[in-house]
Amino acid sequence: MARTPILAANWKMNMLRAEAASFCEQLRGLNEADRAPADRVSADRVEVLVFPSFPLLDTVAAGLAGGVASVGGQDVHPKASGAHTGDVSAAQLVDAGCSWVLCGHSERRRDHGESDEWIGLKVKAAQEAGLIPLVCVGETREERSQGQTLDVLKRQVTAALDGSSGSFELAYEPVWAIGTGETATPEMAQEAHAFLRRLLGDMLGAERASQVRILYGGSAKPENVDELYAENDIDGFLVGGASLDSEKFSAMMRSCARSAP
Ligand code: PEP
Repeated sequence: MARTPILAANWKMNMLRAEAASFCEQLRGLNEADRAPADRVSADRVEVLVFPSFPLLDTVAAGLAGGVASVGGQDVHPKASGAHTGDVSAAQLVDAGCSWVLCGHSERRRDHGESDEWIGLKVKAAQEAGLIPLVCVGETREERSQGQTLDVLKRQVTAALDGSSGSFELAYEPVWAIGTGETATPEMAQEAHAFLRRLLGDMLGAERASQVRILYGGSAKPENVDELYAENDIDGFLVGGASLDSEKFSAMMRSCARSAP
């Protein structure tokens, strides 16, 4: 099944508005008619998403308008409104120009003690508001060394999608590879992705499972995306560190677009 790859930038708690605006301008330039065709990246070859922190949403939504890339929030609260200081609702994200949201990033699980069940509530709130959740799952180094990787993935995915009815995509992000410079080998990543697709098949049926894009995240960079993307069940990347550099991110966009089915 041919799946359009996704390349997603997770800026985490980085960038100020001027830097964000200049990054968006560079991305817009990638499609300009005066570029050599081989250097252009069109939206039907690779779907590009940018997840900035909340204060940058306006700037990025304006900077990427016109189909260059879609914008998403890095988090969402399960409740529609109310007394939740510091949190953001799904409707507020939509209002700010988002069509996507990250749910269950390991840094939220770690820093904010988010449980699997809590993440499931976020997924549902996002879907009800019309956002597409990009659900992040992945094992810690300790869990991998104890042979628990697949059990952890199953537990996280099952809870995140419990009662989910709308669209979603998945990101496999081994925690030990995030921001460490250490990347899963293509074989390790493919094993996890194939397991996730089989699990989705059991939960949703084979046809639906074959449509879900499963991204790899964990120190993805221009030097390693080609060999990872060559694997059958890797449908793109969720990129942290390398997504802060528009040259590196553009190079990754071109890699995905070149190899897209
Ligand atoms: C991430 O934050 O989702 C991520 C994969 O980060 P990095 O690319 O820096 O490992």
